[in-house]
Amino acid sequence: MVVLTGAGISAESGVPTFRGPDGLWGRYRPEELATPEAFARNPLRVWEWYAWRRELIARAEPNPAHQTLAEMEAALPGFLLITQNVDGLHQRAGNRRVVELHGNLWRVRCPRERQVWEDHRVPLPELPPRCPTCGAFLRPDVVWFGEPLPPEEWQHAMEAAREAEIFLVIGTSGIVEPAASLPRLARVHGAYLVEFNLEDTPLTPLMDEIWRGPVSETLPRWWARFQRGK
Ligand code: NAD
Repeated sequence: MVVLTGAGISAESGVPTFRGPDGLWGRYRPEELATPEAFARNPLRVWEWYAWRRELIARAEPNPAHQTLAEMEAALPGFLLITQNVDGLHQRAGNRRVVELHGNLWRVRCPRERQVWEDHRVPLPELPPRCPTCGAFLRPDVVWFGEPLPPEEWQHAMEAAREAEIFLVIGTSGIVEPAASLPRLARVHGAYLVEFNLEDTPLTPLMDEIWRGPVSETLPRWWARFQRGK
């Protein structure tokens, strides 16, 4: 069982998605915030946005959909969770086999020395935060638009997609590439695909099974049914 999650799974924990009616992109322009160019131009503005998101996520709790994925991992030896989310809520729910395609905003990176470490301070003492060794502005250890995915994580995700028997696609708009190509890869290699979303996405036509509605309700129901059917 392989699972791909997107921002929709954290929406019911109070973490805004990027797209959709309450999406972040309605209020902020992505090219002003989530690109290396934006960071070079105005690191303070980019960091103010991440500091706001860190505060919001620090107050958020994993919801029943996150908890169901933790139960699945405990029950299924071949389970792997691939996430596009950067909020760390899957790990807080108890998942350990997690491939983070887009990094994690609880890690910072020194662009000069290429060191990465965890930083959970909320609020951060100074914005933008600086590298304690060399003084350079740190950046969040996340993947911005136009940047490549971390190669090891991407390889691992592709292998899992190829080997999956069941592939769940949860709360993702299916338009951010290359992550959106994983369900296609799984399909080509014979996986049974299930989508959990509020609405249709470009991935919907690939699906064997579709669950519409808030994922905190649909996923626990699907999992209960799956266990009965085993
Ligand atoms: P997206 O914002 O593009 O799409 C969210 C999807 O979730 C939509 O299809 C929406 O219909 C669905 N959705 C919203 N609420 C739902 C609910 N309660 N139940 C079921 N489905 C629901 O998100 P994406 O596809 O993950 O791609 C955007 C990028 O945004 C990713 O790269 C990710 O790194 C980043 N992001 C992450 C977070 C986070 O870490 N929590 C938040 C916002 C954006």
